[in-house]
Amino acid sequence: MKIILNNKDLNEALNNVSNLGFVPTMGSLHQGHISLIKKSNKECNKTIVSIFINPTQFNSQKDFKKYPKNYKKDLSILKKNKVDYVYMPKKNEIYNFNRVKKIKIASKNKVLCAKFRPGHFEGVLDVMDRLTNLIKPSNIYMGEKDFQQLYLVKNCLKKKYKVRIISCKTIRDSRKLALSSRNLLLKKNQLIKAGYLSKNLIFFKKNLRNKINLNKLISDKKKELNKLFNFKIEYLELRNVNNFKKSKTIKNSKLFVAYYIQNVRLIDNF
Ligand code: AMP
Repeated sequence: MKIILNNKDLNEALNNVSNLGFVPTMGSLHQGHISLIKKSNKECNKTIVSIFINPTQFNSQKDFKKYPKNYKKDLSILKKNKVDYVYMPKKNEIYNFNRVKKIKIASKNKVLCAKFRPGHFEGVLDVMDRLTNLIKPSNIYMGEKDFQQLYLVKNCLKKKYKVRIISCKTIRDSRKLALSSRNLLLKKNQLIKAGYLSKNLIFFKKNLRNKINLNKLISDKKKELNKLFNFKIEYLELRNVNNFKKSKTIKNSKLFVAYYIQNVRLIDNF
């Protein structure tokens, strides 16, 4: 496994590589990331994983500073999973030019996290464009856990690069909580409660089939969860997976949730 720290070494290492699979991450790796790596290993000649905690996608400095870091453990996980290259750049390697035209999110897409975390996806799209331009992968592997991110990145990159975005299923723990690096910031009792909330919503989504007036049921569910768990539910919305418009039926739709456990913000979709 080759550890690469700068763009010059990256260019040299990837010079003759074809059918390259790329798994972008912010580190603190877990089974969710590993599932992406396994898929890339299976489908591509070589796999590159990036670990870069992208400062521009955090809309709060405090959140950026407390983001979990486990570089030593990450490298041993990557080695064990037969990754070919790890790219761990410093900020100045990625942000080595200024954009003439700023990346913008269309106003019709300013929903869910794009609404509640202003600037977040602009930062995600900027870094994904820079990484794709540097790495030139054939495939990029991304998780459905961050479904809105997957949707926006796919739409943005397909206009500019010949790259396939491969979506990968959400990996959950035994309590049905979606794995996330941010889970490391939670105490055991908080993880248990978050698992109950996931189970509750999985059951709720299943039972929306054949029901009418879904938006009323969902807004009642949001109130119920706020009371039951004492988490702050930021949004709970049913949206079409192809255009992110609000849905009145569950056809082609997912239930999206964002909530806070104290200061830790979690997202999921069902
Ligand atoms: P992150 O390190 O959180 O930026 O995530 C890197 C990639 O892993 C993104 O494409 C995520 O959607 C994906 N990912 C994170 N958690 C999971 C999970 N529980 N299951 C599947 N993919 C995940």
